[in-house]
Amino acid sequence: MKEKGLLIVLSGPSGVGKGTVRKAIFSGDTQFEYSISMTTRKPREGEVDGVDYFFKTREEFEALIAQDKLLEYAEYVGNYYGTPVDYVKETLEAGKDVFLEIEVQGAKQVRDKFPEGLFIFLAPPSLNELQSRIVTRGTETDELIQNRMKEARKEIELMSLYDYVVENDQVEAACDRIKAIVQAEHCRTTRV
Ligand code: 5GP
Repeated sequence: MKEKGLLIVLSGPSGVGKGTVRKAIFSGDTQFEYSISMTTRKPREGEVDGVDYFFKTREEFEALIAQDKLLEYAEYVGNYYGTPVDYVKETLEAGKDVFLEIEVQGAKQVRDKFPEGLFIFLAPPSLNELQSRIVTRGTETDELIQNRMKEARKEIELMSLYDYVVENDQVEAACDRIKAIVQAEHCRTTRV
């Protein structure tokens, strides 16, 4: 029997550069199929319907929600964004890996529905360092670090829902790490 494809979810805090990393991954030869999202946001200059997004009205989007056509959706800065469920399921069934680049609320929903997916958290530079400091210096009393911990806590809590954390220090390096993680995932004993 043909192996099902892997669902790869790239997410992370806003402004971390998810879109840039995703575009870099898909600019070269890639084995992944990109799931084009639906959105109610207006196209930016140069964006093409059916390439960057499927641009929808609010009414159209709400109809898709009502018809259960979305794997996940979220409202982000006043607009809806969502992943078409049929495309994802059909592509996985065909044995191809599907790549989602979505914000964190959506990623949580996908985690519930596809716990076997590969969830990668794209972190801003220094968060990894901060996390390891927090872990290794649990009794750290330095006020500055406490404050930074407080600010980072929300993001770190979110991070624990993911399988991997990739620091976006440099776009090419982040892409290479993501590709390596996917390769490794395909070699897992539970998948071969
Ligand atoms: P932008 O408007 O800049 O293209 O995207 C805004 C945010 O929406 C980004 O964080 C992007 O990752 C996220 N996003 C894009 N598509 C989807 C989607 O299908 N679902 C969810 N939940 N977020 C999405």
